[in-house]
Amino acid sequence: MVAKIIDGKSLAAEIRRELRAEMAKLEKRGIIPALAALLVGEDSASLAYLRGIGRGCGEVGIYMETIKLPREIKEAELLLEIEKLNSNSSFHGIMIQFPLPQHLNVDKVVSAISPQKDVDGANPISLGRLLMGEETFIPSTPAGIQQLLVRSGYEPSGKHVVICGRSNIVGKPLMGILIQKQVGANATVTICHTETRDLPSITRQADILVVAVGRPKAITREMVKEGVVVIDVGMNTVEDPSSPRKFRFIGDVDFDAVSQKAVAITPVPGGVGPMTVTMLMANTIKAAEMTAGSR
Ligand code: NAP
Repeated sequence: MVAKIIDGKSLAAEIRRELRAEMAKLEKRGIIPALAALLVGEDSASLAYLRGIGRGCGEVGIYMETIKLPREIKEAELLLEIEKLNSNSSFHGIMIQFPLPQHLNVDKVVSAISPQKDVDGANPISLGRLLMGEETFIPSTPAGIQQLLVRSGYEPSGKHVVICGRSNIVGKPLMGILIQKQVGANATVTICHTETRDLPSITRQADILVVAVGRPKAITREMVKEGVVVIDVGMNTVEDPSSPRKFRFIGDVDFDAVSQKAVAITPVPGGVGPMTVTMLMANTIKAAEMTAGSR
């Protein structure tokens, strides 16, 4: 078996066409959705990611601004920046680019974002609402993963989804999405992490395997069953002197080997990444619609 490639770029393009229709309605009312991204420090992978968001936003007409802050910024100063953005009506959405430097308390920082502007679903209030099955901003990466599955014909309903990784931005919210009694969800979900015993015995049970561990080739051919659907969230940078930026991205899955057994698999890059950016754009439009009272 050679796996079908789940093409995140073309599915993202399909959603962006739908977003343009939403944008046209807002433009008629003179509303331009606007996103503020806070970047602390100068991490090259983060800058590349934010440039990707800027391009995507530009394509559909969303205004995006990256606010660069020094790596040494004090927590109180960062919280003040967020407070200013919360009360700045020019911006409908606020996102924080991770990773943050060690001296900053992530929980405090994400909790400072107003839930009305929390377009990346990072605030504990947004995450709590997600778990309760209430209307909220869903974090963009897991929202994109759900869309990848549904739009490529791999409905999670009734399936055993195994998620490797329990981060607050991918693993936990994805579990929250897929266990809901809703269309596009209704899955049986298992979460794995570094204390999971005998990981391969669990990953081999997956009908759908989502991997977000941040380690190249963490999932090998022996760890999956024939016919599995694999979503590789990993974005690991490896040196590449032949690339103009001197690095390239690889995923968490041994792509060549696992493709021989999987029925479908996402590539890295070109799988989850474009969907993440697109869902962030969708949430920014939603935030602008909510502010305008049209939702
Ligand atoms: P993270 O905060 O780095 O946490 C990694 C998770 O994986 C932790 O829960 C950890 O377990 C678990 N883990 C690590 N090694 C493991 C192993 N050998 N076996 C089982 N579990 C293991 O995770 P993240 O922020 O979700 O990022 C994960 C990856 O996804 C990174 O490569 C990141 O760059 C990428 N990412 C991509 C996108 C995108 O849009 N494409 C978006 C977000 C993240 P413990 O909890 O026990 O430590």
